[in-house]
Amino acid sequence: MNSDIYLDNNATTAVLPAAVKAAVQAMTASFGNPSSTHTAGLRAKSVIDKVRASAARLIGAGEGRIVFNSGATEGIQTAVLSALCAIRQRRAEGLPTGSLLVYGATEHKAVSESLAYWNQVLELNLSLRKLPVDAEGRHDLEVLRTLVPDAAFVCTMAANNETGAISDLDGIAAVLDGTAVLWMVDCVQALGKLPLNLASTRIDYAPFSGHKLYAPKGVGMLYVRAGAPLTPLMIGGGQEGGLRSGTENMAGIAAFGAVLGALEENSTFRSHAELYEYRDRIVLSLCDAFPGIVFNTPLENALPTTLNFSVPDLSSGFVLDLFDAAGIQVSAGSACSASKAQLSYVLEAMGLPEWRASNAVRLSFGPATDEAMVARACERIRRCGAVARLIRAPANASKDFVCSASDELADASVTGMHLDAADLAALLQKHSDLLLVDVRESHEHAASALGRGGYAAINVPLASLPDELAGLLELNGRAPVVFFCRSGNRSARAALCLRQHGHEAAYHLAGGIALSGGALPLKV
Ligand code: PLP
Repeated sequence: MNSDIYLDNNATTAVLPAAVKAAVQAMTASFGNPSSTHTAGLRAKSVIDKVRASAARLIGAGEGRIVFNSGATEGIQTAVLSALCAIRQRRAEGLPTGSLLVYGATEHKAVSESLAYWNQVLELNLSLRKLPVDAEGRHDLEVLRTLVPDAAFVCTMAANNETGAISDLDGIAAVLDGTAVLWMVDCVQALGKLPLNLASTRIDYAPFSGHKLYAPKGVGMLYVRAGAPLTPLMIGGGQEGGLRSGTENMAGIAAFGAVLGALEENSTFRSHAELYEYRDRIVLSLCDAFPGIVFNTPLENALPTTLNFSVPDLSSGFVLDLFDAAGIQVSAGSACSASKAQLSYVLEAMGLPEWRASNAVRLSFGPATDEAMVARACERIRRCGAVARLIRAPANASKDFVCSASDELADASVTGMHLDAADLAALLQKHSDLLLVDVRESHEHAASALGRGGYAAINVPLASLPDELAGLLELNGRAPVVFFCRSGNRSARAALCLRQHGHEAAYHLAGGIALSGGALPLKV
């Protein structure tokens, strides 16, 4: 059985073994509080100092400050608060200041939401203005030029998390030239993937996040240009030079440091040339697998590690389920919106036709990806293409179920209906006549053989259950039937439906293959 292939690195990454080691060290031998003046404290303090120095070299911070924090959402928050407080101060002093808060239309939601929030909390009454992007995801510099005379703060990103589109930061800087506008650049997706030399630019604030580059979740940093205004978001014990109070997340900082150290040493991560070569190979395999595929960002203007594509007639959901069943994890857009059935605002802002937005899939690997993993991914993608050709998504395929089992009912705790892995193993042992039913779509069922191995189950997609209901009800008298799917949603509805039709011994695998797939017997 093949292992999973994780290609959703723009959402988050696995933690680098060296980072795990550094975190463990920070929680064991070097557990001290960096504010303490004894030896244990001094040791911890020296860890932070080293990580800060390494970060400063890597991003070219020059005289600028680096403040460790909990991640990019906090960094964005601090930058927005700082800029808005500075604008308020200028106003109070009667100095000229613009009235517009300008942000790129494809920014992470943390940017627009914090601009709106702090504008309201501080009662500044500034106007938020979305800066449009072109079809390639690049900011419209002509529009920016018209906004700049009245802009107080501009927020753009270095590279987009959904499409990988790389911004023209030099172009933006040229438009801002000669103005007093404050400028934040979200550098989350740039670290380790694009060269950075922040002090040589006029960027005032640059947030970074550890978990997007092999450090754990809950650690990040904010670069603040020397001389740029900074208002702490957290006040208290005066840590981080009074700029961000709260005892430092030493495990996180040490782990982040191990990643930054690896970047500096240039030994762990692939070179840009290698990453581009990997991407080309994945592109080829996708083109072979899915004729007619379109890439939603021109490759020459995208991060080497991000692909956003759409396949005609195959919805994102279809491709995601197909890949997931084959053990390849990709996403339809940002992780924050993965659970919301909405079209991506990023692709909408780029003006893509609706079919491309609704069929969009993001595939993202990271700089630590190796050759073997790329080879496995390409091979499995090609085989997914073969499955998709055999079993096209049925026209108007719908997961609407004609049985009366609603989601709420299926969620409800029906006594004994929800099985965990151990319950299933016990039931399998007791009932040799137990029938396992995979209620995923046929392409997902077929693709399972490519990843985790085919399951010893019959396949009755949920939408076809009504047709098969009579047969299932008659089946082996009252033999138990256990339904399963990817997450346990569809299978709960199927089990409830069977029960509603009088078959008491209907169950489902709670948490689905994602949580308890190991308990399902494989085809021999
Ligand atoms: N900015 C971008 C471009 C991102 O991709 C993310 C992550 O989703 C964030 C900001 C927020 O980062 P964090 O999860 O560290 O708060």
